[in-house]
Amino acid sequence: MKQNSKKYAALLATAVMIGLASGGIIAYRKLNSPQPPNTQKTQNNTANSSKSPAEKLIKLTDSVSVKPAAGDYTADNHIWRLVNKTHPLKNSKYRPENLQLATVDSRPDKPEEERSVRADIMPDVEQLFASAKAAGHDLQIGSGFRGYELQNTYYSSYVNAYGQAAADKFSSKPGYSEHQTGLVMDIAAADHNCYLETCFGETAAGKWLAKHAHEYGFILRYPKGKERITGYQYEPWHFRYVGRELAAALKQANMTFDQASPILLGEPSAEKSR
Ligand SMILES: [Zn+2]
Repeated sequence: MKQNSKKYAALLATAVMIGLASGGIIAYRKLNSPQPPNTQKTQNNTANSSKSPAEKLIKLTDSVSVKPAAGDYTADNHIWRLVNKTHPLKNSKYRPENLQLATVDSRPDKPEEERSVRADIMPDVEQLFASAKAAGHDLQIGSGFRGYELQNTYYSSYVNAYGQAAADKFSSKPGYSEHQTGLVMDIAAADHNCYLETCFGETAAGKWLAKHAHEYGFILRYPKGKERITGYQYEPWHFRYVGRELAAALKQANMTFDQASPILLGEPSAEKSR
């Protein structure tokens, strides 16, 4: 009996202590969160909604701003998804659901997947190629989508041939290639003049693309002089789709997508990297 009553007293004391402690925690929480976190989330969502009339522009520079896009910019399938050497796809085996064999000219000797891009950007691809043709430039997709396995094959062969340091300047590990988004094309002249060579930038077709691609939503992703920011050598043939408004803004601001992405995402480091 004596032992039992001792046990009971101990239990009671423990219960009182737990009660006091949890009461204390609740009181502390009340003091420190004037709004439950859920309420704040809802307010943010409303502010970001494209239907909101007082939509806040995202300022890329003092003179260049863009409207926010809908959706999560960090999702693998978002047209504003940054993919570079430090930002791999979340799902390394990612494949867009809406890949489509290009309706414009593409290299017939390439596998079908590599002659494909996302169906939702095809109208802009068609208009880009039609405008180029009207200006006297016959273009061809040299390489569009590349899945994990295909990229792995290419990358491994480059590493074997040139060593990893050299390969990393012009190729990407699987899961780290922009081509895997389905939003990218390596564009060639149909006659393959300066094919995948930096001299493509000096050809009439290369110059036309550099000047006009943004009108159709594409950016020259790895410009000359920005190698340290992009991590890639100058590639006058590699074009990435980001949509017409952002492409025009980046062109106007002379800004790489690597620099713009943290600003679009509102990341605190954005100020420093400008
Ligand atoms: Zn490329």
